[in-house]
Amino acid sequence: MSTIASRLNAVLDTLPAGVELVAVSKFHPVEALREAYDAGQRIFGESRVQELLAKQPQLPDDIRWHFIGHLQTNKLRQIIGRTAMIESVDSLRLLQMVDDESARAGVVTRVLLQVHVAQEQTKFGFLPQELLDYMTAGGYRNLKATHLCGLMAMASNTDDVDRINADFQAVADLRNQIITACPDLTGFDRLSMGMSDDYLLAIARGANLVRIGSTIFGQREY
Ligand SMILES: *Cc1c(COP(=O)(O)O)cnc(C)c1O
Repeated sequence: MSTIASRLNAVLDTLPAGVELVAVSKFHPVEALREAYDAGQRIFGESRVQELLAKQPQLPDDIRWHFIGHLQTNKLRQIIGRTAMIESVDSLRLLQMVDDESARAGVVTRVLLQVHVAQEQTKFGFLPQELLDYMTAGGYRNLKATHLCGLMAMASNTDDVDRINADFQAVADLRNQIITACPDLTGFDRLSMGMSDDYLLAIARGANLVRIGSTIFGQREY
């Protein structure tokens, strides 16, 4: 078995039933993705539009591509219709653009709303209150070609387990608040949280989609 296949299986062995794995393959060559694919992996996460578009035609059609990076609006049109999910919709402006472009292209785009809970200034995402206000006001009912599937978040980049747990709990609480405030919202059931170093903590707080890169593919070259 290849190194990637054995690392992938080691990760899968730690996932409870009902938790899906996004293998984060950004910056790794298609050969690495192929090894994971041959070992059975079907969901891959990429964070750059050009990289995703370059890899896609070289790999089998039944891969479900998740876009997980900050999406620049000038590149949006290129990936509409090419992903199973955009996990990183991080502003109302981007959400509206995804919806408009999807309607224009005649497709429905599945998205997660990215929430900012980490301490770092640099991370993108909705503030929890901002998102709760939008959802409570029913703004999502005007979406024409977008299916809101849940929330995505990153925890603070720290060794402080209490802090990480608090970040994940805040996202889980927000999801519950949204579901309560929006009884007509269906299928808002994905909670994408947890990366190589903290996914077990995320799962303990309710994550059902984990995004794991370096533990499977090794370190990335930046
Ligand atoms: C790179 C990345 C990951 C994977 O990180 P690892 O620490 O390599 O597991 C997960 N989520 C997002 C949004 C990323 O950009």
